[in-house]
Amino acid sequence: MLHWDKMSNTVFVSDPALRPVAEKVIAGQRLSAEDGAALCASRDVHGIGRLANFVREKLHGHNTFFNRNRHINYTNVCALSCKFCSFYRKRGEEGAYEMPVEQVIATAVKAAEAGATEVHIVGGLHPWLKFDYYLQMLSGIRRECPQLHIKAFTAIEIIHLGRVARLNVRETLEALRDAGLGSLPGGGAEIFDDRVHDEVFKGKVREDRWFEVHRTAHELGIYSNATMLYGHVETPAQRIGHMIKLRQLQDESLAAKKACFNCVIPLSFIPENSELGHLPGPTGLTDLKTLAIARLMIDNIAHIKAFWIMQTPQLSQLALNWGCDDLDGTVVWYDITKREGDGVHQELGVKDIRRLIREAGKTPVERDTLYRELKTRESRSALQPT
Ligand code: SF4
Repeated sequence: MLHWDKMSNTVFVSDPALRPVAEKVIAGQRLSAEDGAALCASRDVHGIGRLANFVREKLHGHNTFFNRNRHINYTNVCALSCKFCSFYRKRGEEGAYEMPVEQVIATAVKAAEAGATEVHIVGGLHPWLKFDYYLQMLSGIRRECPQLHIKAFTAIEIIHLGRVARLNVRETLEALRDAGLGSLPGGGAEIFDDRVHDEVFKGKVREDRWFEVHRTAHELGIYSNATMLYGHVETPAQRIGHMIKLRQLQDESLAAKKACFNCVIPLSFIPENSELGHLPGPTGLTDLKTLAIARLMIDNIAHIKAFWIMQTPQLSQLALNWGCDDLDGTVVWYDITKREGDGVHQELGVKDIRRLIREAGKTPVERDTLYRELKTRESRSALQPT
């Protein structure tokens, strides 16, 4: 329920410190870093949720997006050892794997036959795979499944592939695009802050390179997404700083009118099996607040995703009234993070996704990767009287 009083044009917040923020939100004004700090400091989680929901409904009404997708993690062998990561293995270590190109293509074909419209392909920074491996993967999928959208490679993978191929970022992206790449997922962003970078993922490129990849992709007309991994060693101010930096690039990309970020995906840190396993990880309220604050601070990226793999289906459902308008998709297989007891097979059926959305009082909308609505048999029959 939207606690928006049309007569007085206010959204109810119980924390007096949030009233100036609420006024700016209602007036459609951009929030500052200080406003972000006030939101982070407030315990009025419901007030923050109502404000985020106000923005979400202004942008999308009750529409809540999902897609039929299949994640493919082609290798977990990685040259780096980020402390928050429980995915990577060193070559030869127990559990290390690399999929032959044919296996990646066959997995994509199977997904397309099952109705997927997108494959989401990411992996570790494999020290020995040649650039041809990636080109053959993309062109093979494009050849076998011309309709399937290929969303692949985080910014850090793009930099790695460029080093392997001895190409700069633009040339790397052009080569991948020509082979079949459709868009970029948003991983590898973590938290844009040098102190956090040096403490937790030192071997990774710094934020300037992450932004270089996404800026160049947008210049080439390649749409992308952006993540933020929260709930480890960062401060609330560093989260807000991260959001503002994303907003700045989006301003540039929107002005250039070629391509831009489609979606922000705040990722809840899962400590299990990582080198930061001693940390408690974010609570449910931190999850809800962070998702809602992302909606409020990042006013120029259309969609905020509650990624059910990281936030759980239950909390993601709740987040649909805390500013989020996207639940990701069917996923099927996800090897990057696993909660205790979860295997890599992590799947939500379309019926389950629709039920989660409807139960939250929202309208399920099946989309393609670029957020164009797909008129499926189910969505058409939902309009027919039963
Ligand atoms: S987060 Fe990515 S780059 Fe870092 S160790 Fe894990 S797979 Fe490698």
